[in-house]
Amino acid sequence: MPPVTREPTEPLRLDYLIRAGGIHSMTGETYRSVGLRGPGIVAVSGEPDGLDDLAGGGTVVVDAGDLTVLPAFADSHEHLMEASRNTLLVPVDQAKSVAEFTGMVAAAARDAAPGAWIRTSMAWHESNLAENRLPTIAELDAAAPGHPVLARRGGHFAVVSTAALSAAGIGPDTPDPAGGKFGHLPDGGLDGTLEGGAVYQVAGFAPDVTRAQLADGLARGSAAYAALGVGTIREAMINTDELLAYQDAAEQGKLSVRARPMIRVGNELTGDQALALVDGLGARSGFGDDWLRIWGLKFVMDGGVEGGALEQPYTDDPHNSGHLNWDPAVMTRVCVDAVRRGWRIGTHAVGDRAVRTLLDVYEAVVKETGPVPPWTLVIEHALLSDPAQRERAVRGGFGVTVQHPLLWNMGSEMLATWGPERTRQVNPIDDWLALGASLAAGTDIVRPFNPMTNVWGMVTRGTKAAGVQGPEHAIDVATALGLYTMGTAALNHEQDRLGSITPGKLADLVAYPADPLAADSGDLAELTPAFTIVGGKPVHDPGGLLAS
Ligand SMILES: [Zn+2]
Repeated sequence: MPPVTREPTEPLRLDYLIRAGGIHSMTGETYRSVGLRGPGIVAVSGEPDGLDDLAGGGTVVVDAGDLTVLPAFADSHEHLMEASRNTLLVPVDQAKSVAEFTGMVAAAARDAAPGAWIRTSMAWHESNLAENRLPTIAELDAAAPGHPVLARRGGHFAVVSTAALSAAGIGPDTPDPAGGKFGHLPDGGLDGTLEGGAVYQVAGFAPDVTRAQLADGLARGSAAYAALGVGTIREAMINTDELLAYQDAAEQGKLSVRARPMIRVGNELTGDQALALVDGLGARSGFGDDWLRIWGLKFVMDGGVEGGALEQPYTDDPHNSGHLNWDPAVMTRVCVDAVRRGWRIGTHAVGDRAVRTLLDVYEAVVKETGPVPPWTLVIEHALLSDPAQRERAVRGGFGVTVQHPLLWNMGSEMLATWGPERTRQVNPIDDWLALGASLAAGTDIVRPFNPMTNVWGMVTRGTKAAGVQGPEHAIDVATALGLYTMGTAALNHEQDRLGSITPGKLADLVAYPADPLAADSGDLAELTPAFTIVGGKPVHDPGGLLAS
């Protein structure tokens, strides 16, 4: 037997002792001091000096009586990978007009090899352009002659140049793909807009950035989220190559926030192909460590504001009620297999018809597999739902991720396409909670978004440019904070590790110069952190408060 060696037992010495005006645990207590050691929280006290005997020579003591400390935010649905890739692409999300947009594309084309693809950031929206319209295919052709230009906007829409359509072999007579649409001009020619599945039919031809570039992008991207007080992001859609980039970034210590990725199971696959993809993954939900842990699989049932599957037709087009991407029977078969292999599933369902169809699928899955643990089958968004659907979701134990920033960002588009009655009913968090639903709050906005603007939105139902929508669905600040911390921790099956300021949990904290629970709701939207700590490490400390 080799001799057993052990470290000498020492009295506990804190790495950080933080004294603050208020430390809200999110489990009902308010403390005045918290002690951190290594990656975790080891002690709390209701007195500012209650932990002083745990401080030693190496302890950083932070006296922040003017600050309020909360658990760092956990975003239940955001595209960190896309936001990070955007930092490597043409930054048209910063354009304020169509001319600026096309000017950036032209500048990138001048720097690129002849005929090379030009890819823009996905985080733009025409409502941020002075003209409030999309760039046209003719404008893209003129900005980058001979270059395929791919300007993806969010996950379900893109505008491309003529060269991009040619590179993908798409002409005026190409039939629309399942769950997608090629836009046409009045004369029948292509107008360069791609919706739903049509986006992938072109994007598949554009060369991607390298894995090493992506890992660097994740470093920049995750740091920007951490600077806004985010500690965990449930990454809403990646492929297996992108999972490798995540692993690189995590191993190299480049992540400033924890990531919980969902792996895409695309509706362009046949049922057998989807089963093969799931079976080939080998691992299952929960694989990884505290920084990077696979959440599960991602399905997409319908489109976004333009293509969401609605029970009633679009307000601006009585012949259109959106599209469903999956045959329910096929999706059920794939999901039954996946759940039996230990996978959790999150499915994008925006319109009420998509939510109803997804409930059919999830209920059929549970009928086959038997009861599943909470937060195994998840509805992403459910922007539109009716009372019967909400009741079915709660009865079935299907949790919902809610994103007020979608209403905040696209309220004007929703008013135009869905009409005022449906827009004010988007994401009625209060109705869901009254039924006892499991909810987790997030953003889905594909760029760093101030969580406090999201809290303000949940509390006021305010939007960027569409006024207040459905004020009767407002919730209070404490509830909003809870959904955005403990709610997401439960979604991630980590309520014992994260989500509150509790000894034994990981030290993910954010400090604010005002107490959000006491502040006027009007002041919340602009509140930004004094510092952010993730896993006991300062990841945002502009004032040097955490410096030793
Ligand atoms: Zn999303």
